Amino acid sequence: MPGTVRDDARICRGCWDQMSVPIPIRGPLAVPFRIFGITQSKMNPNICTICERAFRRVKKHRHISATASILFADIRGYTRLSERMDPIELSNVISVFQDQCAQGIWAHDGIVNKQMGDGLMAIFNFPIKIERHAEAAMIAALDIQRRCKAALAARGINLDEVADTIDVGIGVHTGQVEIGEFSTARSDFTAIGGTVNLSARLEAQAGAGEILVSAESAALAPALTAGTPTRTLVLKGIEHPVLAHVLTAGG
Ligand SMILES: [Zn+2]
Repeated sequence: MPGTVRDDARICRGCWDQMSVPIPIRGPLAVPFRIFGITQSKMNPNICTICERAFRRVKKHRHISATASILFADIRGYTRLSERMDPIELSNVISVFQDQCAQGIWAHDGIVNKQMGDGLMAIFNFPIKIERHAEAAMIAALDIQRRCKAALAARGINLDEVADTIDVGIGVHTGQVEIGEFSTARSDFTAIGGTVNLSARLEAQAGAGEILVSAESAALAPALTAGTPTRTLVLKGIEHPVLAHVLTAGG
C-alpha cells in the first residue's frame, strides 16, 4: 500500500520537532517568510529551508550525534543501461526513479538528503522525528520498489528490451550518525559515520529489486523482517561479516 505524501503541514515539521518553533510553510502566514527566502525544502516539502541550510543556528552546534535510519537506493546495472538507451530515454528513467524515490521517502517522513544521478541517500528521524524510524525506512524502501516498477511501466519505457536491467537496489541500516554541516562549499546538512557507510555498502550488494536490511534495523521492525531470508556479507571496509535481511516488494 503505497503511502501518499502528507503535504498538509502548515508549519515546518523539522523546525517544530527540533526547536518547537512554528515556521509557516503553507497558507497566508507563509507569504512574509517566502519574501525572506524561507520556503519548502527540496529535501522534503514538509520541512523548510531554515532546517536545511541553517543547521548551526537550529542546533547551536556544528554537528550533533543522533540515532537515525539511513537508506541508500540506486538503479541496478546503470552503466549497461546507459550504453543501451539513448540519452533522452535514459534521463527519463533517472527522473522517474528520483521522483518515485522522493515520493516514497516523503510519505514516511524521511528526507532526500543527497541525489547522485542514478542513486540517492535518505535520512529517517532528522529533522522530522519518527518514533519507529527503522520501520519507516523499510516501508519507504518497499514503497520505492513498487512505485518505480509501476511508474516505469506507465511511462511506456520499453521494459521488454531492458527488463532485466531497470531495477532498484536498496540498503537500510540504523545506528548513531553525526549530523551537521561538514563542507564549507555547501551549507546543507548531511549525516556521516559508520552507520552511513554500512548502509551504502548494503545497497551496493543488493540485487535487482532487493532491499538489504541490517540486523540492527531488522531488530527494530520484527513485523517486517521476521521469517525473511538472510545473507551473510563480507563488505568492503567493514571488519566483520554482516548479517542482512533480504526484503522484496513482491513477497
Ligand atoms: Zn524548518
